[in-house]
Parts: sequence; structure tokens; C-alpha cells
Amino acid sequence: MNMITNHPPTAELQALDAAHHMHPFTDADALAKNGVRIITRAKGVTLTDSDGAQILDAMAGLWCVNIGYGWDSMADVAARQMKELPFYNTFFQTSTVPAIALAQKIAELAPGDLNHVFYASGGSDANDTNVRLVRHYWAAKGKPTKKVIISRQNAYHGSTMAGASLGGMTAMHAQGGLPIADIVHIGQPNWYDEGGELSPEEFGLLRARELEAKIEELGEDAIAAFIAEPIQGAGGVIIPPSTYWPEIQRICDAHEILLIADEVICGFGRTGQMFGSQTYDIRPDIMTIAKGLSSGYAPIGASIVCDEVANTVAHAGDFNHGYTYSGHPVSCAVALENLRILEDEKMVENVASVTGPYLKEKWEQLADHPLVGEAKIQGFMASVAMTPDKAARAPFAAPKGSVGLIARGHCFGNNLIMRHVGDRMIISPPLILNRSDVDTLMDRAVKALDLTLAEIKANGLYA
Ligand SMILES: *Cc1c(COP(=O)(O)O)cnc(C)c1O
Repeated sequence: MNMITNHPPTAELQALDAAHHMHPFTDADALAKNGVRIITRAKGVTLTDSDGAQILDAMAGLWCVNIGYGWDSMADVAARQMKELPFYNTFFQTSTVPAIALAQKIAELAPGDLNHVFYASGGSDANDTNVRLVRHYWAAKGKPTKKVIISRQNAYHGSTMAGASLGGMTAMHAQGGLPIADIVHIGQPNWYDEGGELSPEEFGLLRARELEAKIEELGEDAIAAFIAEPIQGAGGVIIPPSTYWPEIQRICDAHEILLIADEVICGFGRTGQMFGSQTYDIRPDIMTIAKGLSSGYAPIGASIVCDEVANTVAHAGDFNHGYTYSGHPVSCAVALENLRILEDEKMVENVASVTGPYLKEKWEQLADHPLVGEAKIQGFMASVAMTPDKAARAPFAAPKGSVGLIARGHCFGNNLIMRHVGDRMIISPPLILNRSDVDTLMDRAVKALDLTLAEIKANGLYA
């Protein structure tokens, strides 16, 4: 087998990791006790760990490796750019060829008049840019009172102070004194958990109209923007009812507020079109992008900004904001090559009309599994909600996430990476997943669900 064998033994690596490496979103004591899993290489859709296990990565890393692992040309482009110009800044009336070329390419791909790119290093800091940009925009329009940004409960917009504040994760707000000022949250279009007796369509309208109610409550002259993911990703792949986005768009059109689509996950093919906004007919004024922009091969994010906002800000003097790595030439070159591959290999079209429909057919059959209350999918992002009582869509008696954690363990045990969010299991596989990969994924997913069901029957959680 073609493996790197010159690394220390797994146990030694685990001990060193526990001693020196602080992990994001992790209970460090629990991790140290269980031992971290060490990924050593990857090719296509398959990871290899330090013990040689071959794991199907149905999460595309962290929603990002859209083109899959192991493209030599990505490495070649990075190496060439590093040799030619590893870094130069974009602050002081300077630019670089990759930063220019990528901005042009992004403007070409983005819908409508989203023609202007402000670079960041990832999605969180791109959303920080958005907070400052929209407030600066309204101030430049002579409306400095328009500062409030409306977001949604259980949204994910990153982990910086502004990103986590925009997000609607209560566990994140509880640490570090969040949200920051002038960010408010309305309900999410999560029919399964919160829709009660309403139909999904009724519930979608109800939740969309919370935006209108919030605008009326605070006054239009206080509000800068509404931000939302086309499909909530980290919130559990919450696919909104069909009525939700048309109503949100109507409300945004009827009021003087900006619409920010956080496309960090949905962008670059995940929903079956280049952007989630195209899948849902959303016309955003600003888009946040990251993840699939480089397929995770190099860190990069950006805000794509419409003509009106960019031009207004352009005429308003210095925008006192930027990152050292805004427009990093290596990341930009890598992102450009990523987009070339995405287009040349017709990956988005493939998700839309070949592998996407095949995965959908299989995934929706999971709804018949005794443990599954709902199985939803759009393009290449999908979720199942686990329940002890399908009809009532009831939660388990154990604390939320206990069964999800058990299921994730069985996925790991069967060489499948699926993530759990609470007691939902979610996937977001590389867009290159082929039919036979889909079959493997589904076999392992069903096996993991079966094992989970057996375990919770044995311990009394499935009455
Ligand atoms: C991952 C994510 C972010 C944050 O991006 P980072 O690159 O981790 O900073 C923001 N928004 C959404 C929708 C995301 O999924």
C-alpha cells in the first residue's frame, strides 16, 4: 500500500496532540481520553488514517473539498506561484496577477451585478468584512443609523466575534459575551423541529414573515442588512420549505435593507447550481464565499459585492479595513485552478443531473428506516433526523446529541465520515462522488444506522 510510514506510531502522535494541540469546537479532556484520529493522506473521496484505514469522506473535509483530494495541478499551481511571488499585499496601491484574475473569474461566475470582490482568509472574516461594509455603505448614503443586522437562530456564519454573533448558535454566544451590539436574530425555517402541526409551506411563510415583523419592530432606518445561508449547513443541513425564500426575497425587495447570502457552503456547486442563490432564486446584494472557492487546498474567502454597494463605498474615501492575506497570491492561484477543474470536469452539472439525482433517490429511502424521522437532500448536501417516534418527530429521552454521537461513532467504525448535529446526521460529499461511491456511502450509512438502533434499543433510549 502506498502509505507514509515514516511518521511516529499513532499512540505517540495522539499523546503529542493532546499535550500541545488545542482543537477547535472540541472537549479537550474527552478527546485526550479517546485519542484523536490522525489523517495522513487522501485521494479522490477517500482518506487514509495513521493506522492505514481507508475512510469514505462524506463531509468533503469540512464542507470544502468540492473537487476531491489529490489533484496534482493544484499542487503545481501553488508551487509555481510560491516560486514566482509567494506574497505581496493589496493595501498600498498594489495588486497581483492571481488576485486580479480570480476577482474577474468570480465576477463572471456570480449572478446579477455581483461584480466586486473583497478578499478574506476564510468565511468568518469575510462576514466580518460584511458587517463593516454594510454599515459603512449606509453611512456613506447619509443613513448612519442603519446599523442592525438581522440573522437567524441556529445559523452559522463563522467563529470570529462578528461571525459568531451573526450566527445563531446559543452555545457559541454563551462563551465570550456574544452577540456583539446591533445583531439580532429571528426564527429559522426548521420545520422538522419547530413546525408543529403546520404544513412545511405554512411554516416557511410564518418564519419568513418574522423578518418583516422584525423590520417593523426596529424600524427600517435602524436596519442595515439581513444575512442567511441559502441552506443552513452547520445548523444541521436545514433545507427550507419551498415558500421560505420567495417570501424573504419579497420582504427584502419591499424594504430598504441589504440581503447577504452566506454561500460559504452552498457556493461552488453544492446545491446543484454554482450558487445556492441560483437554486432558490435569491438576489443578494452581497455573497460570502470561502470553502469550495479553493476546495480547501488553500485558505481563502471573500465577499462578492454588487455594483451599487461597491460604487457607493468607492466614492466614500478609505474603507478602513483589510487583512494581511486579502488577495493572497498563492491562495488566489489555487482558487483559480480549482474553479478551472470544477468547470472543465463539469462537476456542478454532474451533481445537478447525474450523481445528485442518484444520491437523492437512495438518500430519501432512508426515511423508511425505523430510526429516521426525516431524510432531506438538495444537490450534494443532505441530512437525516433521528427519532424514537417518527409520527411525533419526537426527540430522544437522552440529552440532545447523545444518539448523534453514537451514530457518528458507528460511521467512523464503518469507515464513513458523516457528521452529527444534535441527533441529525449530515453529509456534504466531494462533488466527484460517483455512483459506486454513492452505493458504498449508502451501505455504510445504513449499517451505521442499524448499529445505532441496536445500541439504543439495548440501552433503553429507543422505547
Ligand atoms: C464554515 C462557514 C463559515 C466560516 O468560514 P471559516 O472559513 O471557517 O471562517 C461561515 N459561514 C458559513 C455558512 C460556513 O459554513
